Amino acid sequence: MTTVALFGSWILTRRDGKPAVARDRWVLVEGDRIAAITPDRPAADVTYDRPGRLVLPGLMNLHNHCFSEAIARSHTEDGRGRKGGKSIVYTVLLPLSKTASTVLSPQERLAVARLGILQLLKGGATTVMEPFRNGLPEMFEAAEEMGLRFYGAPYLFSTADAKAGPDGRVSYAGDDGAADLAVWNALHARWEGRAEGRIRLAMSPHATDTCGPDLLRACAARARELGVPITTHLAQSDDEVATIRARHGGRSPAEYLDWLGLLAPDLLAAHCIASSDDDLRLMAARGATVLNCPRVFARAGRTAAFSRFAGHGIRTLVGTDGYNMDLLGELNAASLISKIDAGRAEVAESAALVDAVTGEAAAAIGRPDLGVLAPGAKADLTVVEMTHPHLQPLHDPLRALIALANRANIAQVVVDGRVLVEDGRYLAGDEAAITREGAAAIERIWDLPEARAAFEEA
Ligand SMILES: [Zn+2]
Repeated sequence: MTTVALFGSWILTRRDGKPAVARDRWVLVEGDRIAAITPDRPAADVTYDRPGRLVLPGLMNLHNHCFSEAIARSHTEDGRGRKGGKSIVYTVLLPLSKTASTVLSPQERLAVARLGILQLLKGGATTVMEPFRNGLPEMFEAAEEMGLRFYGAPYLFSTADAKAGPDGRVSYAGDDGAADLAVWNALHARWEGRAEGRIRLAMSPHATDTCGPDLLRACAARARELGVPITTHLAQSDDEVATIRARHGGRSPAEYLDWLGLLAPDLLAAHCIASSDDDLRLMAARGATVLNCPRVFARAGRTAAFSRFAGHGIRTLVGTDGYNMDLLGELNAASLISKIDAGRAEVAESAALVDAVTGEAAAAIGRPDLGVLAPGAKADLTVVEMTHPHLQPLHDPLRALIALANRANIAQVVVDGRVLVEDGRYLAGDEAAITREGAAAIERIWDLPEARAAFEEA
């Protein structure tokens, strides 16, 4: 069994149930587990003795769309693709990813998936939960090959062709989600537990306005039979709230999920920005988790404040969604946007935000072996280089991490004891080739008239 010793001038520990920092510790890794945290230099096969680094438990980004983000990047900035001020989810992102799954060859789709995962790893994520079109099994292939810990969340829809009308309302014909549940079951049979358990699945009904009651009930029953987490998009827009109220007897989206039995501790609900305070109180009472992704909404001029959800006593995590997979940058935005929203600085503090992508994230998916540096835990580590001029002198490592650091400061990424990134470079593949091939596949989509048309009409 290979042993690896890593020195941290600072390492993340816990004190009184909260993240805290200890000075000058060694982390000893044996195989895929942490064997010891010690002040004394241990003997090991491989030693990283690099003073000036902050060693964190592997960062967990439990809501991102690295595949569709790679395709849409820089096309949707400054309001492009947004029709009548409406969300681009139904007008641009879902149609584009559907195009990708039908037009690109399996090898091209794999190239896009690799590009997405490369940037996630270089950004310091060790565990990600990625919802994606169920016609993209290449996401699993790329995650397995590249070493990431991956909760794949292939979508289920009551119809695969949900479309928003001119009024923003989403329509779907019938309730034919049975086909998607069959696809999900097949993917689960093929992928769950592969790569020594690194590859897992989450049940992923797309959203309240694209999934009818029968499908949502069936999803919940199957997920609980298997013990897998459930993730969905919830209250992403005012239009979604109006649609659900009209369709389902005046219920809000949160009440709709509660009615169907989904609002529970195994649910990770992305966004909730159009949720009322009553909805948030209901979510807190049911123990559901909110996945807060502030930057994708900031881009559209909307406030998604981490502090609003956390302030209701809801377990609140931070993810990048479909915009800029820089998790440290997202935490910085979560801090700033919360402070603007609250009108004061003492909200969304650094320790809580670090916890949101480590300990709290692990708890939300029932993984006490992740999100913590302790003997027996999985050897998933994110190591940040703190010797940069913008981080010195380093008075308070956690506040510096949230306020000042970004993905360019990620020094090392370790998953299951395997060093995937060192000195900011991906070690297990050719970065330049992955980037070139992924970009070329994406250009093929933008060569299509229908892809460009989505923007010309805007
Ligand atoms: Zn999302």
